Amino acid sequence: MSQDDSDTAERKMQFLFALRTRGVTDKRVLEAMEKVDRGDFIRGIFADRAYEDMPLPIACGQTISQPSVVGLMTQALDVQPRDKVMEIGTGSGYQAAVLSHLARRVYTVDRHARLVREAKSVLDRTGRLNVTTFAADGSFGLPDQAPFDRILVTAAAEDPPGPLLAQLKVGGIMVLPVGQSNTVQSLIRVRKLEQGLEYDELRPVRFVPLLEGMGKDT
Ligand code: SAH
Repeated sequence: MSQDDSDTAERKMQFLFALRTRGVTDKRVLEAMEKVDRGDFIRGIFADRAYEDMPLPIACGQTISQPSVVGLMTQALDVQPRDKVMEIGTGSGYQAAVLSHLARRVYTVDRHARLVREAKSVLDRTGRLNVTTFAADGSFGLPDQAPFDRILVTAAAEDPPGPLLAQLKVGGIMVLPVGQSNTVQSLIRVRKLEQGLEYDELRPVRFVPLLEGMGKDT
């Protein structure tokens, strides 16, 4: 092994160790995260910080989430191998890549066409063939692809958007941050039951806001 390879192996070990110490204990989630190289999803000056447990800036003023938060959200979503999953907030495409190792199909939506284009190119290049990307306002979900077994929202809304709840199957799970964008938000899990919805509050988080309409690409 070259020095570079052993440095990379060492950084990956530390990356997985950090996930475990922050509460990501589900074996399937850890295996999925081990398979996805976060470095593929970060460009420019921050690329060499890809294996640190911190959010990092991506294009259009957005952020790639902190890996431990990606892990905890994925774990809370309890994805099953036959599941059809929708993610709102593609960003870099990293979370979608992690989900693609756990689910049958992943549909991911972002309001920034540029982010969708760039994420699609990395997802294609890295062979994530069961992910489909969409440039759209995800607050309305994807009515043509609904219903979904699982929905993950990676931008904060004040309340769970009605159209997303409507596109969740009975027995399905949605995980999302709720609260004002400039304060600490709560990560919540919503289960859709035969009779109504069951809510669980998981932990405090901080996400960019879920905004209406299409974004101006920067
Ligand atoms: N999951 C991403 C990080 C998401 S950052 C990753 O793994 O890298 C949040 C993303 O939500 C941003 O890219 C932002 O453009 C997007 N977003 C915000 N409001 C949205 C909306 N209404 N519809 C779709 N995407 C939205």
